Amino acid sequence: MALAAELAARLNCAEYKNWLKAGQSLLLLRAALQRFAGEQAHAFHQQLAARLPSPPGSRCRGHCLPRGKQFQPVCTLCKEWKKEILKHHTHRNGEVNWGNCRPWLWPSNPWEIAKAYMPPGKADSCGPDKCDASGLLNLFTFCDYFSNIDQKKVREVIKCRNELMHSSDMKVSSSWLKQFGNHIQNLLAEFQHVPEAQMATTSIEKLLKSDWAVHVPGEDQLDGLEGEMSPGQMTEIEAELIKERLNEIRLCMEEQGTMSKEDSNRIQAVRNFIHSNHDLQRNLQEEVQNLEDLVQKMNSQEQVVKETEEVNCEQKSDEGCPLEKMKRTV
Ligand SMILES: [Zn+2]
Repeated sequence: MALAAELAARLNCAEYKNWLKAGQSLLLLRAALQRFAGEQAHAFHQQLAARLPSPPGSRCRGHCLPRGKQFQPVCTLCKEWKKEILKHHTHRNGEVNWGNCRPWLWPSNPWEIAKAYMPPGKADSCGPDKCDASGLLNLFTFCDYFSNIDQKKVREVIKCRNELMHSSDMKVSSSWLKQFGNHIQNLLAEFQHVPEAQMATTSIEKLLKSDWAVHVPGEDQLDGLEGEMSPGQMTEIEAELIKERLNEIRLCMEEQGTMSKEDSNRIQAVRNFIHSNHDLQRNLQEEVQNLEDLVQKMNSQEQVVKETEEVNCEQKSDEGCPLEKMKRTV
């Protein structure tokens, strides 16, 4: 099937279309706030640097390397920076994803500081232009430098974003989309002084009203095409959102260290969806392969755990392994 025809078939499902529109709204929100986030991160960094006694040329001398939520710096410089970062964390006793950061760059790179306030998996996001909406929104809520932004509005959008990315079948209802649109617009209203945010308000309003009909060559012209996106642009948005979803599932499993029933259902749903759409299959090859590799790793780990349990059970059977007891009583 041609690209436009495959896409048109997918967009026949109103709830999938809603899912995409919500995702596209997040992409627009992100684009609107990136410059602002970058500038603020820079100013925040200057504020911290001014308080830290770091003579020119001073740098990490301990090869200090964080892992996930763990970070025990060896050198004084990293210790001082860590202390300052924690001072500005809105959940001081909460968990910090230190694994996002390269501490030896803290004295010179504001974004390496910003990433300490973000969810896991942001190690490769090397600047605001590479950062997704979730990263920016978490920065706004976990770093007190941004506390002049209405936190309730930020959290509403974070909550919706999580619902969107965790929805098992990549579908949302029209009433959910409407509410989500309101939350995004409320948040954008906080950024009156950011011209990109004001422009995004208009684009998101238009986007949520449009019907995203796709013209399939050779068929009758469909309504609602004027000023809308081409099939190529649409599939780009689709690919980006599905990538984010696949990454989300991957991060979630990596963090838990296992694959829950829910994870495996989610993976199966995305797998089925991608396999039935050839254009997506082509675009998402790499991400799908990464996920399949992780699934395989998780499965073989589980197998090892099971086998160890079985061996333990056999060894203990004389002492009364519950399973053996049951067998004996039957
Ligand atoms: Zn260090």
